[in-house]
Amino acid sequence: METKLTKSPRIAAQILLNGGVVAFPTETVYGLGANAFDETHVQKIFLAKGRPPDNPLIAHVASFHELELLVRKIPPVAERLIEAFFPGPLTLVLPRSKYVPDIVTAGLDTIGVRMPSLKLAQAFLKECGVPIAAPSANLSGKPSATSWKAAWDDFNGKIEAILKGDDSELGLESTVVDCSVKRPTVLRSGAISLEELRRIAPETRLEISRRASIPKSPGMKYRHYAPEAEVKIIDDFSNLDYGGAYIGLREPPQAFAHQRICKGLGDYARALYAFFRECDARGLKTIHCQSVPECGIGLALMDRLRKAAKK
Ligand code: AMP
Ligand code: MG
Repeated sequence: METKLTKSPRIAAQILLNGGVVAFPTETVYGLGANAFDETHVQKIFLAKGRPPDNPLIAHVASFHELELLVRKIPPVAERLIEAFFPGPLTLVLPRSKYVPDIVTAGLDTIGVRMPSLKLAQAFLKECGVPIAAPSANLSGKPSATSWKAAWDDFNGKIEAILKGDDSELGLESTVVDCSVKRPTVLRSGAISLEELRRIAPETRLEISRRASIPKSPGMKYRHYAPEAEVKIIDDFSNLDYGGAYIGLREPPQAFAHQRICKGLGDYARALYAFFRECDARGLKTIHCQSVPECGIGLALMDRLRKAAKK
C-alpha cells in the first residue's frame, strides 16, 4: 500500500472516511486514527500497530456534541475538568454510550475521550465529522511518534495516509483520568499535572494498583515507550560508564558521544521519544536518562522512563 503524505486536513479526512487509517498530529503525540463508529475501520489500527486487543483506544472529538454521542453520563466532577482542561492534553474515562463499538473500548463499559487543542488536529476532526478512535502512532511497545517522520518510519506502507504537521509541542501522551468511579483517578500521568487536576478536583488520586493483575487501565500492563537500546535511569553522576547516549537536565562531568542537555522539564519531555528513536537509528546500545523530581510534568516523565527501563 502507498502511504500518502498530505498537509491538507480535508484530504486526510476523506481518506479516513473511505476506511483508511490516518496518522495525524496533536499537541501530545501523533495519533493513528479511524472512524470510532466503524468496527472494521478501527480493527485496522490494531493490525497496523500490533496492539493487543484488550488495550482500549481513546476517542478524539472536535465538539461537545460528539462527546455526548460517546458517553452515557458526565458526572459533575468531569464537567469541571472539561471546563478547565478541554480542549487539551486530558483524557477522561466515562461510562460509554450504546453507539460505541466494543472494539474501541476493548469491551469495557467505559470510554476514554479527549478533545485535542492543536489547531490542525481540530481542523482534521471537524472535516471527519465523526469521533476518531486513535492510539499513539507507533508500533506497539515503541516510543510514541512525536513527528510525522517518526510515524512514517513506523507505518510507511502500512496505513493509508499521514497528515503532516509540526513536531508535537508536548511530546508525552495525555493524562488519563477515570471519572467513572467515585473519586477521579489518574490512570496515566501526562501533560496535565496532578497538581493542576487537584486545583479543580482536590479529591483526585493516583491509581496505586500498579501491580494488580487486572489493572484499571489495561494499557498499563504492557511494556511501553521503549527503544531498542537499554534505558538506564541515573541520579548519581559520580560513577558513570560513558558508553552510549545521555539525555537530561544536567551537563555530565564528561561528555557522552551522543547527548542532549535539556533546558527544563518541558524540553526534556518534548525531546525524549525523538531522542530514543535517534539513538536506535544510530545503533546505540545504552541510553542514560537523568531522573527528575516527580512534580508537574516530572511525574509523567519518570513514569515513561521507568516503563522504558523495564525489561
Ligand atoms: P495510547 O493512546 O496508545 O496512548 O493509549 C491509550 C491509553 O489510555 C492506554 O493506556 C489505555 O489503556 C488507556 N485507556 C483508554 N481507554 C480507556 C478506558 N476506557 N479505561 C481505562 N483506560 C483506558
Ligand atoms: Mg500508545
